[in-house]
Amino acid sequence: MTESRKPLMAGNWKMNLNHFEATAHVQRMAFALTAEDYEACEVLVLTPFTDIRSVQVLIEGDKIGIKYGAQDVSEHDSGAYTGEVSGSMLAKLGCGYAVVGHSERRQYHGEDNSTVNRKALAALRHSLTPIIAFGESLQIRESGEQVAFVLGQVEQCLAGFTDEQARASVLAYEPIWAIGTGLTASPEDAQEVCAAVREWLVERFSAETAAAIRILYGGSMKAANAAELMAQPDIDGGLVGGASLDPDEFVTMVRYRLHAS
Ligand code: PEP
Repeated sequence: MTESRKPLMAGNWKMNLNHFEATAHVQRMAFALTAEDYEACEVLVLTPFTDIRSVQVLIEGDKIGIKYGAQDVSEHDSGAYTGEVSGSMLAKLGCGYAVVGHSERRQYHGEDNSTVNRKALAALRHSLTPIIAFGESLQIRESGEQVAFVLGQVEQCLAGFTDEQARASVLAYEPIWAIGTGLTASPEDAQEVCAAVREWLVERFSAETAAAIRILYGGSMKAANAAELMAQPDIDGGLVGGASLDPDEFVTMVRYRLHAS
């Protein structure tokens, strides 16, 4: 891992924790986390939209080092798009990040790689860092085609990106078969795909850009396996679902450096 790639541990709360619970959750994390923890690892919570204002007030008011962001963003900047939330609205609330392309958005909301590309560009227009998620199904994994499939996804999700836009993004490899299932990709399997993605970034952009982009792993990551996944050279952080709902577990994951064997 290079100096420019500060590890990032991102908790994706999904549709959990109302704004009261969110406040208590962030307070509990903040109570446990130290200046050394923030120095060693960027800590991010990706909350439901309805929590963002409360989390912002708490974090800004108490000068807490945890970052916050959204789980999705509209591809549009404003207008007649009932139910959607724009990048400018999120930026106004102090969000730094927005996930785009999570497999649950792809599965339940019909989002494809071109939607993900437009959403990532919308995030970038408003100075939000898109966390661009992709990953193969179990069927593709069993066919052995995971690398080719994932590279195809990344190519479409980053279509038309400049070097600068790529560097302002975070990528997240999340094999669908590992999300919420308790099945984790082995560190070697996760590394294989993340390394291939970085190699693709070298070809598409440059070695410098590829070396600067953080690639996260997501899929049943938890305190017990975080250190071995984070030890892989091309894994720069975690996108953590279930395990991020336990503040103590998530703090232990942020401290993966203390648990490395
Ligand atoms: C996720 O929601 O991005 C995720 C990886 O979930 P889990 O950690 O629960 O598998």
